[in-house]
Amino acid sequence: MSKSVYLDNNATTYLKKEVFDAMIPYYTEHFGNASSKFYEVGRVAESAVLSFRETVAKAIGAKTNEIYFTGSGCEADNWAIKGIANAYKEKGNHIITSSIEHHAILSSCEFLEKNGYRVTYLPVDEFGRVNPEDVEKAITDKTILISIMTANNEIGTIEPIKEISQIAKKHKVLFHTDAVQAIGHMHIDVSELGVDLLSMSAHKFHGPKGVGALYIRNGVKISNLIHGGGQERGKRAATENVAGMAGIAKAIELANENLDKNILEMTKKREKLIKGISERIPYCRLNGPVGEDRLCNNVNFSFKYIEGESILMMLDMKGVAASSGSACASGSLDPSHVLLAIGLPHEIAHGSLRLSVGDDTTDEDIEYVLEVLPPIIERLRMMSPLYEEVTK
Ligand SMILES: *Cc1c(COP(=O)(O)O)cnc(C)c1O
Repeated sequence: MSKSVYLDNNATTYLKKEVFDAMIPYYTEHFGNASSKFYEVGRVAESAVLSFRETVAKAIGAKTNEIYFTGSGCEADNWAIKGIANAYKEKGNHIITSSIEHHAILSSCEFLEKNGYRVTYLPVDEFGRVNPEDVEKAITDKTILISIMTANNEIGTIEPIKEISQIAKKHKVLFHTDAVQAIGHMHIDVSELGVDLLSMSAHKFHGPKGVGALYIRNGVKISNLIHGGGQERGKRAATENVAGMAGIAKAIELANENLDKNILEMTKKREKLIKGISERIPYCRLNGPVGEDRLCNNVNFSFKYIEGESILMMLDMKGVAASSGSACASGSLDPSHVLLAIGLPHEIAHGSLRLSVGDDTTDEDIEYVLEVLPPIIERLRMMSPLYEEVTK
C-alpha cells in the first residue's frame, strides 16, 4: 500500500463521519421542502432548518435570526460586499479591504469598481498584517464598508480584527470579516470581534462542500444577491439545502467541542514542520508570521531557485498532497497575490509550498514529509540553472 499524507487542509478538509451521518436523514426520510408547511415531511424539514440555524448562531455567539445559509464561502463573501454596497449606495461608494483577501472578496470589489464604486486595497507588512492605523487613515465620509479577513488562507496571518472593528465603530462604518479559515482553528465570537458581518464555509472545518453561512448583525441593511423565493427570510432565494445545513451545524458543533485540543495539537505539528524544514533545507524562507499570530494549521515556505509546481508534482509521487501559492491561483502563471503583497520578488514567490495540517495529521506524517521533502528540493535545485550559478 502506498503512503498517503494529506497536507492541504487550507484548501479543503475531509468530511467527518458524524457530519455525514447527521446529513443522511435529510436526503432520505426527511426529504421535504422546508418551505412546504402544509404537510408533515415539510414541517420536519422546516423545524430542522431552524435548529441548524440555532446551532450555527450559538457557535459564534450570534442570535439565531442573524445567520443566513449560503451555497459557499465565496457566495457569503460576494453577498457581503455587493449586498452592502448596493444597500448603502445613498450613503457612499467607498470600500476598504486588504490586498491579501481571498479572490471572492477581491473580484467582488473589482466588479464594484467597474460600477462606480471606489475601493482601497490596503497594503500589508512583511508578515501579511494589516495596520489598523492604515484602515483609519483610509476612511472617508463616503466609506460604507471595511472588509478584512480574520486569517489568511495562504500564509496564515491572523489579522487584528478587534482593533479594526473598534475603528470601524468609531467612524460608524460597517465591518465584514471573511472567517472561512478561522472557524475550527480559532475562537470566534462575533460580539467579541465586534464585526457586523462574517463569512464561513463548512468544507474548511470538516463539513460538506457547497454550504456556507453569512452572519449579518440585526439592523444591518443588505440587498439580495440571489433573488427568487422567500427563503432565508426573503434574503436568499433557493429551496433550502437541509442536508447541507445539517452538515454545517454538526461540523461547527464538533469544531468548537474540540477546539482547544485541536489548536494545541495542530500548533505542535505546525511547529515541527517549520522547525524541521528550516533545519534541513538551505535557502528557504518561512512566509507569514511566527507564533501566536499564525493560523494553527498553516505552514508556507519559499524555496529559492525552483518552482512550486515541480515540488508539488514530486511530492505527489511520494503520496503527499500539498499546495503552492493558492489552489485558486493554480492554472494561472502569476504568482500568488498574497506572496507579492508581502514583498516577495516574483522568482521567490514562484517557489512556494503550502503545507496545512489537520486534526488527523500524525507525527509519522510530519516525519515522512521531513524525510521526503529535502531530497526533492535538492534534486530540483540540481536541475535549476539559477542554482548552478549560485553554487559555482
Ligand atoms: C476557501 C475560502 C473561501 C471560499 O470558500 P468556498 O466555500 O470554497 O467558496 C473564501 N475565503 C477564504 C479565506 C477561503 O479560504
